[in-house]
Amino acid sequence: MSKIAIYPGSFDPITNGHLDIIKRGVKLFDKLYIVLGENVSKTTLFTIDERVNLIKQAITDFDQVEVLVSNNQLTVDFAHEVGASVILRGLRTATDFEYEFTLSMANAKLNSEVETVFLTADNEQLYLSSSMVKEIAKFSGDVSSFVPPCVATALKTKFVDQKQA
Ligand code: ADP
Repeated sequence: MSKIAIYPGSFDPITNGHLDIIKRGVKLFDKLYIVLGENVSKTTLFTIDERVNLIKQAITDFDQVEVLVSNNQLTVDFAHEVGASVILRGLRTATDFEYEFTLSMANAKLNSEVETVFLTADNEQLYLSSSMVKEIAKFSGDVSSFVPPCVATALKTKFVDQKQA
């Protein structure tokens, strides 16, 4: 039986930290769905369509990875719908742990058949977050070592457009 996992998140935008988790995830699962959902507590810089497009460009090297969008649906329900038995999440710091731990508890309560698996990224990517990358790009800093090239370009365009608006 094939092992299917979902990797849910905001991916606003996708970073090399996310890609590192994906790279590790494909070694463990036959199919990995990156699931873009609305995080109600976050305002995003990129639209859902923009984020999906950036992810698609960033994952061309991975055959068994696909990107999907979840609309107003519980993560565990989405997992069930696509036949996934695992929710993959990344862990960076102790702060991540507290949030991720409660989230995984809630998901386990909602559906005990779905397990949350945590992976840590390479040391080099451990401090990386989408928010940090956006902050650097906003002030015209070089983000090329933090994100795939398509994202670096999109960030430049986004902030130039915002300045001109
Ligand atoms: P969310 O809004 O659901 O937290 P994110 O896109 O910020 O979505 O993150 C999705 C997942 O990827 C989370 O589990 C987060 O901890 C993980 N993640 C993000 N960046 C990194 C990184 N640099 N190293 C390890 N995990 C990461």
